[in-house]
Amino acid sequence: MKIIMLGAPGAGKGTQAEMICEKYNLPHVSTGDIFRANIKNGTDLGKEAKQYMDKGQLVPDELTVRILLDRVAKEDCKNGYVLDGFPRTIPQAEVLDQELTKLGDKVDFAINVDVPDENIINRMGGRRACVTCGATYHVQFAPPAKEGICDKCGSKLILRDDDKPETVKNRLDVYHKQTQPLIEYYSKKGVLKEVDGTVSMNEVFESIVSILK
Ligand code: ADP
Ligand code: AMP
Repeated sequence: MKIIMLGAPGAGKGTQAEMICEKYNLPHVSTGDIFRANIKNGTDLGKEAKQYMDKGQLVPDELTVRILLDRVAKEDCKNGYVLDGFPRTIPQAEVLDQELTKLGDKVDFAINVDVPDENIINRMGGRRACVTCGATYHVQFAPPAKEGICDKCGSKLILRDDDKPETVKNRLDVYHKQTQPLIEYYSKKGVLKEVDGTVSMNEVFESIVSILK
């Protein structure tokens, strides 16, 4: 099963992708996580990606597509995967489709987690991310057991630089211009599924499970 998570930054794509992957035993492929791991490890790719991420801009398609295709070519993606944060532009979606077509394959579901901009600002201001394992929390909606500490690995939790309000606004603008057109793109392909992302995490997940059944 190949699933794409669509939605604004902070809509809950990563949260739902985690839950789907656990239930259906699929790998969670997040281009944002791959970039952040590269930044942490000080690689050239990380240095290049950081320049764009810090400003709330998209990393160029060529670079992003290359890392995504490398990742999904790995053995653990053989039986499917959940893509979180990719594609974010029409050209990225087109390359993915071309590559899947070559393999006689296709995207099964593009799930749009729909959350209006007003809710996004609050979601992202409250998001906390683990500096070591990347696990995500929310100070109000999904707090860790101990404030500021990751439940999974015990490392420190931080507010991501790109979750600061001035960058969030920029990311939302970029989302509306460059990523939202993917909703129509996947609708035309007949694989789009819409879920209301404003309800609780478990309720969003229930809607997704009923779609995937
Ligand atoms: P995305 O991957 O789309 O950027 P996340 O999954 O990281 O978004 O979610 C953004 C923030 O909102 C996180 O802090 C997360 O814990 C919180 N969150 C996710 N889903 C919900 C929900 N349904 N209700 C309230 N908060 C949520
Ligand atoms: P995310 O963790 O998905 O919110 O992504 C964080 C940042 O990484 C984005 O704001 C972009 O700068 C960059 N990024 C992640 N995925 C992509 C993508 N598919 N295309 C371009 N940039 C991306």
